[in-house]
Amino acid sequence: MTLSNGRSYLAIPGPSVVPDRVLNAMHRASPNIYEGPLHDIVDSIFPDLKALARSSGNVAIYIGNGHAAWEASLVNIFSRGDKALVLATGAFGFGYAEAAKGLGIDVSILDFGRRTGIDLTQLTDVLKADRNHEIKAVMAVHTDTATSIRNDISALRGCLDDCGHPALLMVDCIASLACDRFEMDGWGVDVMVAASQKGLMTPPGLSFVWFNDRAAAAHGSAGLVTPYWNWTPRTESGEFFRKFCGTAPTQHLYGLREALDMILHEEGLETVWARHQKLAQAVWAALSRWGQEGPLRANVSDQSLRAHAVSSVSIGAPHGRLLRQWLEQNTGVTLGIGLGMATPQDPDSDGFFRIAHMGHVNAHMTLGVLSAIEAGLIALDIPHGSGALSAAAEMVASA
Ligand SMILES: *Cc1c(COP(=O)(O)O)cnc(C)c1O
Repeated sequence: MTLSNGRSYLAIPGPSVVPDRVLNAMHRASPNIYEGPLHDIVDSIFPDLKALARSSGNVAIYIGNGHAAWEASLVNIFSRGDKALVLATGAFGFGYAEAAKGLGIDVSILDFGRRTGIDLTQLTDVLKADRNHEIKAVMAVHTDTATSIRNDISALRGCLDDCGHPALLMVDCIASLACDRFEMDGWGVDVMVAASQKGLMTPPGLSFVWFNDRAAAAHGSAGLVTPYWNWTPRTESGEFFRKFCGTAPTQHLYGLREALDMILHEEGLETVWARHQKLAQAVWAALSRWGQEGPLRANVSDQSLRAHAVSSVSIGAPHGRLLRQWLEQNTGVTLGIGLGMATPQDPDSDGFFRIAHMGHVNAHMTLGVLSAIEAGLIALDIPHGSGALSAAAEMVASA
C-alpha cells in the first residue's frame, strides 16, 4: 500500500515550492503591456531586487533560467580570450566555468573538491602569481547546490584586496539568495546572479544579474556583449520594452511581485534568513543522529561551511537511489539526486541524495521530510542511529 496520495512535496533544491499566493497572483488574464499596473509592478520590482541583494547598484532582469544569468553575467564583462579564475566547490562551479569556456573566455579552475570550502591560501598564491593582473574576474558560487557547501564570500573579497588584485568578484547566488545572508555592497561583490525558482519561490523563467559601478565600467570594453544580453538598456531607467528586450514576462512578474512582498514586506529578509538557518539546523540534527550508526553522513562535516538552503547527504550506493524512490512512491516526497557526486565506484551517484530546505518551507514541511526519510530508512533496512526525529523536533522547539 502506498501513503503517497495527498499533496506532493518536491523537496529538491529547485524548482522549490511555489506558494499558492504566488500561483494565484500569476493566474490572471494577460495584462496591458503598454501602460498601467504592469508598469507599476515592474517599477516596484527593481528597488526590491536591490534590497534583496543588499545592493545599491543596478539589476537587469532576463527571461531565462540560471544558465541564462550565467551567460548574461559573462558576456557583459568579458571579451574572447580574457582570463577568468573559477573557484569550484561542486558541480555548479564547474557549470559556471563551462559557460565561460563556451564563450571563448580563457578559464582556469581551482578545484577545492566536493566536501570543503575555498582555500584562501591557494587563491592567494594564484593571485600573487598573476603579476600583470591578467585575471579579469574571479568567479565563485555562494552555495553550491550540488555539494551544499556555502562559501565565505566576504573572505574572498578580503583575499582579493589583501593581494592588491583588481579582478572583479562575480558570485552565483542562485541557491542562496533569500535563504542565506548575502550582502552585495558590504561584501564587495561586483556581479551577482540569481534566478526565480529557488529562494525566490517563483516558477523557473526569470533570472537576474546585479552589477555595481566597477562592473559597469568593465562592461565598456566587453567584446562578447550582444544586443539581447546587454544589461544596460534593461536597468530600471530604460523604456519599458527595453527592460526585457521585447515582451515582458507578464504573469511571472505578478508572481515575483507577490513573492517579494512575502519575503521583504511581510516576513522580512532577516527573519527569512533566520527561518532557513533554524530549519537547516533541524536537518543537521537529524543527519547527525542517523549517522551515529550505519552509512549516512552529511556531505559537509564543518557546520560553518554548510548552506542553509540544501543538505547533500552520502549514504552509499545503492541506498541513495532506493531511498529516493521509496520516498516518492510511498510518501509523496521527492528528494534531490546526487548531482556531480559520481565516483568510479558509484558512477550514477546512487549513494547520494539531497534535501532542499529553501524558499517556501516551514517547520512541519521540514519535519515531515525528515520523518519520511526515517520511514524509508526503516522500510529499506538501512542501518541508522536513533533519536533523529526528536533531535530535529528539539531544534524546532528551541526556535
Ligand atoms: C540551480 C542552480 C543553477 C542553474 O540554474 P538553472 O535554472 O537550472 O539554469 C546554477 N547555480 C546554482 C548555484 C544553482 O543552484
